[in-house]
Amino acid sequence: MKKLFIKTYGCQMNAYDSARMADLLAPLGFAGTEAPAGADMVILNTCHIRERATEKVYSELGRLRELKDEKAKSGGRMIVAVAGCTGQAEGEEIIARAPVVDLVVGPQSYHRLPEMIARIARGQGERVEADFPALEKFDSLPEAVSDTGVSAFLTVQEGCDKFCTFCVVPYTRGPEHSRAPEKILAEARLLSARGAREIVLLGQNVNAYRGTDAKGAAWSLARLIEKLAGIKEILRIRYTTSHPRDMGEDLIDAHAGVAKLMPFLHLPVQSGSDTILEAMNRRHSAADYRRLIDDIRDKRPDMAFSSDFIVGFPGESDPDFEATLQLVRDVGYAQCFSFKYSPRPGTPAAAQKKQVAESVKTARLEILQKLLLAQQDQANNAAIGLTLDVLFEKPGRRAGQIVGRTPYLQPVHVDAPLSLIGSIRPVHIEARTANSLKGRLA
Ligand code: SAM
Ligand code: SF4
Repeated sequence: MKKLFIKTYGCQMNAYDSARMADLLAPLGFAGTEAPAGADMVILNTCHIRERATEKVYSELGRLRELKDEKAKSGGRMIVAVAGCTGQAEGEEIIARAPVVDLVVGPQSYHRLPEMIARIARGQGERVEADFPALEKFDSLPEAVSDTGVSAFLTVQEGCDKFCTFCVVPYTRGPEHSRAPEKILAEARLLSARGAREIVLLGQNVNAYRGTDAKGAAWSLARLIEKLAGIKEILRIRYTTSHPRDMGEDLIDAHAGVAKLMPFLHLPVQSGSDTILEAMNRRHSAADYRRLIDDIRDKRPDMAFSSDFIVGFPGESDPDFEATLQLVRDVGYAQCFSFKYSPRPGTPAAAQKKQVAESVKTARLEILQKLLLAQQDQANNAAIGLTLDVLFEKPGRRAGQIVGRTPYLQPVHVDAPLSLIGSIRPVHIEARTANSLKGRLA
């Protein structure tokens, strides 16, 4: 067997793509390995969303150069591939800047890896594939065979047509495309036959999912979820990431009507200021977002929310930032991600004159994160004393301990036998650590 090392950066969609790349290369004799040293093939599945993410890729390529030299000294060959969004955005530039790289492949063309590897072996042909043949990719991938784990990702939708002014995704992942429902259902059945008990439906704008079945009928995400809930072995369903503008009535209703759909929603708002939301091209106001949260809580009162925030978007004033803090206080989040605005080449916001000073971004991020952390603590504290259903996913770090998640996505550590992994049990929550809960089987 040849050794394959894949390093994944960024979002869950990249994690899914990495697993599919491993599936794709398995028939060529590649088996996964835990470290890059000595590997025959190394794939960096990259993220381009913020500058830091891209920098990390170049420093990793620097380290790989030495390992590639060592492999060559022992008479072997290490093929180094850059996949993912940095590959899409900077294909030729990567080859020029990092000669260690043998090939570059974008997120919509990784199904062509086997033929690219063959070309490299023959020492000929293009080394960059960065088209958007989205339809083609899913049709050419093998059936999922990777070890799925108890919770498995399943990409249902890709790309984005929204063009928020700060974001590279529409350029790196291409236009919105939804997979056919039959294909998704078949993949879900396969995953569940391999032991998956939770399916996490993935898409850059997953709730914009609009699939078309063989009869030409349109499927919304809600309809897809209802159908998936009919698969006996699947115990839980989640989806991410949603856009507030695509939160349809039927999807909100599904949270009340479909028991397997978990009461946790990642619904990024980015800012609480209407001026900034408009400049970001988010195409909704802070009031629209608050109303949406209220509508969802009306139907599913225990819904836990999370969001992404950007501080220091060009032109963000102190009152704009205060509006973000106020929105956070009003909504009350279970957990969130927050970032300093990072200008991305080619996006409209990067060209704006009124950039916010780095020191201001740092100060605002600190204030926001303190508030978000306090809300997360509050949500975790509120769980203490309750009995919650936990789906056990894997062994804990300590012997005799297993780890699972509550419906609200909180990790829970419990002393219990490994045989419970893959099943749901009621757990009495007794305490918490910084980021997780502790409990005992009820
Ligand atoms: N589609 C999702 C949405 O509309 O919210 C988000 C996708 S993006 C991969 C994840 C998060 O990265 C965004 O929600 C945003 O908060 C953050 N992000 C994107 N571009 C950014 C930038 N230029 N600077 C800082 N954060 C950024
Ligand atoms: Fe990026 Fe906006 Fe599309 Fe989300 S909706 S992927 S933030 S452009």
